[in-house]
Amino acid sequence: MSLSSQVVEAIRKNCPDPEKFYPLHEPTFGGNEMKYTQDCVATAWVSSVGKYVDTFEEMLATFTGTKRAIAVANGTAALHICLILAGVKNDDEVLCPALTFVATANAIAYCGAIPHFVDSEMKTLGVDPLKLKEYLKSIAQIKDGECYNKLTGRRIKSLIVMHAFGHPVDLDPIVEICNEYNIPLIEDAAESIGSYYKRVHTGNRGIISSLSFNGNKTITTGGGGAIITNDEELGKLAKYITTTAKKPHKWEFYHDMIGYNYRMPNINAALGCAQMETLSDLLSKKKQVADNYKKAFAGIEGVEFYDEPSFGKSNFWLNLIILSKENAMERDAVLAATNDAGIMTRPAWILMQKLPMYKDCPRMDLSVAEDIEARLINIPSSPNLAGKSY
Ligand SMILES: *Cc1c(COP(=O)(O)O)cnc(C)c1O
Repeated sequence: MSLSSQVVEAIRKNCPDPEKFYPLHEPTFGGNEMKYTQDCVATAWVSSVGKYVDTFEEMLATFTGTKRAIAVANGTAALHICLILAGVKNDDEVLCPALTFVATANAIAYCGAIPHFVDSEMKTLGVDPLKLKEYLKSIAQIKDGECYNKLTGRRIKSLIVMHAFGHPVDLDPIVEICNEYNIPLIEDAAESIGSYYKRVHTGNRGIISSLSFNGNKTITTGGGGAIITNDEELGKLAKYITTTAKKPHKWEFYHDMIGYNYRMPNINAALGCAQMETLSDLLSKKKQVADNYKKAFAGIEGVEFYDEPSFGKSNFWLNLIILSKENAMERDAVLAATNDAGIMTRPAWILMQKLPMYKDCPRMDLSVAEDIEARLINIPSSPNLAGKSY
């Protein structure tokens, strides 16, 4: 049997109905979603303030074990604010993986800063600490306590790491590098709610980190995101700057800095509260789907189910398979066969330096990211696929 047919057969263990279309990730509304959103409409508390925003923020802080969570319009807006609060300014460089969703690089560009692309490691799909350390040894220089790129003369003001498809990156050595070079760390945890690095929820090691609740993520608020941090001052500032930076006053509109209208509306937060109530159930269903795939792919030669790293716990947001090097040229055939069978699959994102707006950005050798891009395939991962274990 061809590799493509074997892959289709393995995915059928979670996606059994040949008449159905299986998307990569669809929302599951099994709790109080209707009740809470109806409450918003009935009381007319649909917009930028309301009790659901406060409750959602508290639930997020509790779940992630962070001191403060600030709900915002989407994950990209969250990242934008993280960068501003990390001190990123016009013409700074920000290190970020080449293998990421475009929002990571875009948020850097919104600050007038320049993305500087770093390579990933196979073990996590995220930033490779060893390679980054070697690279910084050759290009970085500390001047007046700040890190500079010797080749461009620009300041390196932040590192964003991203927990790809829910798999946690190796944070300890990365934090060590950031301390050594005085580079503030930001975690783009858009894909990793429910993922842990050594028992600590992702997003805790960055000075400030971001989450996303877009429709295809593990939980959704329709559109939405959050900033999480363990720094009370940054948390306060994040709330202030995302709500137009208005000084509290009974009637006067006084703003003392450029603020943003990045608030999450109450009606979206209502959806978020209901989703948070079901999150642990959704996560265990997703784990069941992943376990099912793991078994289904175990006997197939030339393709491997990508499992969580030994040091962490993944939410398995989007399950993925990696073709062996010998089978890399089969990638498009596998994508075609699965999509033809009503099973949505897709390759990794096109690497950031291949996009026209980022083609001239500084970067290190990206051979591992290139290799992952050539062989990775995402497969359907919705929690509602669970329950069909065999
Ligand atoms: C989804 C996502 C974002 C952006 O989130 P939005 O809510 O869609 O703006 C940022 N980074 C990564 C890695 C993502 O997957």
